Amino acid sequence: MHTPRCHHASGTVREFAEVALAMGMVEIGMSDHSPMPKGFMDDWRMSPAELHGYLTEVEQVRDVLADDLTVRIGLEADFRLGSEEGVARMIGLYDWDYIIGSVHYIEDWDFDNPARLAHWDVVGVEEVYCAYFDLVAQSAATGMFDIIGHPDLIKKFGHRPPEGSVRVLAAEEAMLQAVQKADCALEISSAGLRKPVGEIYPHPRIVKRAAELKIPFAYGSDAHGPDAVGHGMDACLELLEASGVHEVCAFAKRKRSMQSIERAQGHRG
Ligand code: ZN
Ligand code: FE
Repeated sequence: MHTPRCHHASGTVREFAEVALAMGMVEIGMSDHSPMPKGFMDDWRMSPAELHGYLTEVEQVRDVLADDLTVRIGLEADFRLGSEEGVARMIGLYDWDYIIGSVHYIEDWDFDNPARLAHWDVVGVEEVYCAYFDLVAQSAATGMFDIIGHPDLIKKFGHRPPEGSVRVLAAEEAMLQAVQKADCALEISSAGLRKPVGEIYPHPRIVKRAAELKIPFAYGSDAHGPDAVGHGMDACLELLEASGVHEVCAFAKRKRSMQSIERAQGHRG
């Protein structure tokens, strides 16, 4: 979940936590968009100078609410070719609970930015999907990330490759193989339900195949405001259960533990 430091979120960490408590949750994680190394700056993330304030705010809420709610401290880092060293250095600055790695760019195209929608008209949807899944596979292979964020974000605006495209299915499979090999978790995110595509990330086909490969899942609302805390959690957990997955991950100091979905839901009363 995000804070206003990324320039596209609202609310205080305390407000996010209060909503979680009201929903009966016992654990949440903040994972704001991380600063990026020089040359990769833009308006979608905190600056390096804001990292300290981010940590201070989350630590304070974590400590104040410690008896009632576990608050984990993470980051959502961008995976962009050429930024790996800088991102690794940034990750090394703190004892994080978890790091999400996300692909939001294909080369210089921030394909999830509504202002860049026109670029879809000059690219091939099939090529773009393959390039996207290839980057996600590469992000897993770096070994820098605990969770692969919204693993089919490329569908955000509803662009679809031809049904049954062999190339896209192969790229999807290669992505999942890379995630399995790197022992990463996949995020199951309700954010897609709030976007034009109107679907959970990732697609049920990907969830099913990941389940076969015994890849673990972490639920994320990707909330950019307190109103979205826990949004779509039941739908995400139901999709997992329907795919034969009965556990979700939690993280502490970058160690993964598994929680049964039954227990995760029971906690909410
Ligand atoms: Zn965001
Ligand atoms: Fe993201």
